[in-house]
Amino acid sequence: MYSVTLIPGDGIGPEIMDAAVKVLEATGVSFKWERCLAGMSAVEAGLPPLPEATIASISRTRVAYKGPLTTPVGGGYRSVNVTLRRHFRLYANVRPAKSFEGTRTPFHDVDLVIIRENTEGLYSGIEHTIDVEGQVVAAESVAIITRVGSENVIRYAFEYARKNGRRRVTLVHKANILKTTTGMFLAIGRELAREYPEIEFNDCIIDACAMRLVMNPQQFDVIVTTNLFGDILSDLTAGLVGGLGITSGANIGHEEAVFEAVHGSAPDIAGKHVANPAALIMAGVQMLEYLGEGDTARQVERAVRAVVKEGEFVTPDLRADSRCSTMQMAQAIIDHLE
Ligand code: NAD
Repeated sequence: MYSVTLIPGDGIGPEIMDAAVKVLEATGVSFKWERCLAGMSAVEAGLPPLPEATIASISRTRVAYKGPLTTPVGGGYRSVNVTLRRHFRLYANVRPAKSFEGTRTPFHDVDLVIIRENTEGLYSGIEHTIDVEGQVVAAESVAIITRVGSENVIRYAFEYARKNGRRRVTLVHKANILKTTTGMFLAIGRELAREYPEIEFNDCIIDACAMRLVMNPQQFDVIVTTNLFGDILSDLTAGLVGGLGITSGANIGHEEAVFEAVHGSAPDIAGKHVANPAALIMAGVQMLEYLGEGDTARQVERAVRAVVKEGEFVTPDLRADSRCSTMQMAQAIIDHLE
């Protein structure tokens, strides 16, 4: 029995979470869910966006399964996702991008993983304006790269490659311009690469990497990069393999881990029961793997891939004329579990 903190989230979150929990429970692996609030649903219940009880639950269970959380643009509260990652030092964001047969994409043989530094860089939260005579004349954001943060995520990328039989780690940076920050990240990568002689190591400037990913994504295996670059590239690679409806991410720390879909709370379709549950279920696959239930993880992944490939019980984001609901797609996935 695994104790897991369950955060249904905002918008489509509760709909896809109900579907994903049904699939995970159908595998026979036994979970004890600790249901917690965060984001807009916490605020609407008169609580802070990240309530103490939610933090306490994750500290206890060490594993969280999380639906998307709404972040107000401009004012309001700071992103709960960013706060969670910083609070628990979830230093590595792991986003696999493997082609899904049955989706609209020009590529059918992409199989790469983006490992993004998750707590530093331009997401350090240090921003201010410079005011002259009551007028804002400039705004600054501070990017922080630390040796320990870089070592944590780059070492994780090499260990991930070793554990998963991957051959190459590509470090993505902008060290020609951001010489001190991403330059240090690159230097640490080169140092650590010597400890992993069996894994090929190379580096690539972010803009060239974006072009190469679009033209020839098959050349990449494991990519490790800083926070902002990883944020952007991992949505790009989600697009390469079939879109946000099917891609997931794991936030890994030394002690805790949080598993989630890559997409947001999709307010435009919330409440309509047409959201695709596959991305959150794929996050469940990553969670099962993390918990040591690798066989079950692969079983669930095969079932999701089979349903997407067949294209009959898929939500309208995958087939425009579909009338399949979130729960019907989840049931089809359950029916495909071996
Ligand atoms: P979004 O990912 O919520 O939606 C973008 C588009 O994709 C929309 O048209 C939406 O309908 C569609 N979409 C997303 N998920 C889908 C699914 N499962 N099935 C079918 N269609 C899906 O991005 P957004 O609109 O920019 O953001 C909405 C809110 O979500 C914002 O408050 C944002 O801050 C938040 N957000 C949260 C997370 C997270 O919690 N990890 C990630 C991204 C965005």
